[in-house]
Amino acid sequence: MIATEKITVEKTKNSRLSEVDFDKLPFGSIISDHMLLSDYLNEEWGPSSIVPFGHIEISPTMLALHYGQIVFEGMKAFKMKEGNISIFRMDKHYERFCRSMERMCIPAMSFERFSEAVKALVKADADWVPANEGSSLYIRPFVFASEERFGVKVAEEYKFIIFTGPVGPYYSNPLKVKVEDKYRRAARGGTGSAKCAGNYGGAFYPSSLARKEGFDQVLWTDGSAELNIEESGTMNVMFLVNGVVVTPPLSDSILDGVTRDSFITIAKDMGYKVEERKIGAKELVSGFENGTLQEAFGTGTAAVVAPIQVIHIKGKDYTLPTVKDSNVSLTIKQRLSDIRLGVAPDKNNWNTIV
Ligand SMILES: *Cc1c(COP(=O)(O)O)cnc(C)c1O
Repeated sequence: MIATEKITVEKTKNSRLSEVDFDKLPFGSIISDHMLLSDYLNEEWGPSSIVPFGHIEISPTMLALHYGQIVFEGMKAFKMKEGNISIFRMDKHYERFCRSMERMCIPAMSFERFSEAVKALVKADADWVPANEGSSLYIRPFVFASEERFGVKVAEEYKFIIFTGPVGPYYSNPLKVKVEDKYRRAARGGTGSAKCAGNYGGAFYPSSLARKEGFDQVLWTDGSAELNIEESGTMNVMFLVNGVVVTPPLSDSILDGVTRDSFITIAKDMGYKVEERKIGAKELVSGFENGTLQEAFGTGTAAVVAPIQVIHIKGKDYTLPTVKDSNVSLTIKQRLSDIRLGVAPDKNNWNTIV
């Protein structure tokens, strides 16, 4: 293994830790004391440094602001039952980060650089990792084109930044969703499988229209006549059909979710049959009519599971059985939590102890 350059650490003199109420953590607004910065210049990634979290100066001509070369990740660190801190499936998040960067023409970085950076930052802000079950430290690595120039081109300079923030349990009320038959999140050959900023920007308008109509979010489809379901908002989607866990197969228009993969692994381990196959509006309607559609839910790092209660398909609302603790989605969620906290065995080496 190549020896990594030492990551320099400048600790804050004004920690904000004492201002945080760890029993009442909102999602997505509290930021830990430090951040990690690294620049890509002259065809290489430079040294990483950890500094107090704060604003960065950018030029209005910075290429990312105009042409959108921006890629991010979202993962979590947990305080385990024994008191250790563990990062969940860092290697899988790294692999996806690399695939997203390649799709957006952003230069690769080694696993060593990425993992050492994440671990060092989590260590620096170890006191920010919440201990309450269901809470965690959200970790946001991202990279963007920082070169200053307004002529369109692939940038030659980039910034890699990681910041973190403690988040509480994300209880999602059962959702009312709409099968979106006009707009699409992603197209075959497009950037749907990359975690790039623009995918989110493009999804806001159809999602806000759906909210005005009284839905929580949309079920994205592949745009075909069959209306094959792809994702649920910014989450992957799964169904329980006649006791079988069904989820759309990965393609370049579906984001390869780490939670999706973890759910598939755990479901199989628990003895459920899992099918990665297309599932269209017609099958959903007949599943509602003959009672074989038992559950529908989204999966993602932020909420882990978001159960769906109502699905609107071509002008009609269809209602699923009331969500209960015994639902397959919540049973798998509990097992996942047990693995993360070191309560259930970590057979697949998903936890990286820092
Ligand atoms: C991040 C993301 C997901 C969920 O991925 P996880 O790795 O499980 O957090 C699903 N769909 C989209 C569009 C996403 O951006």
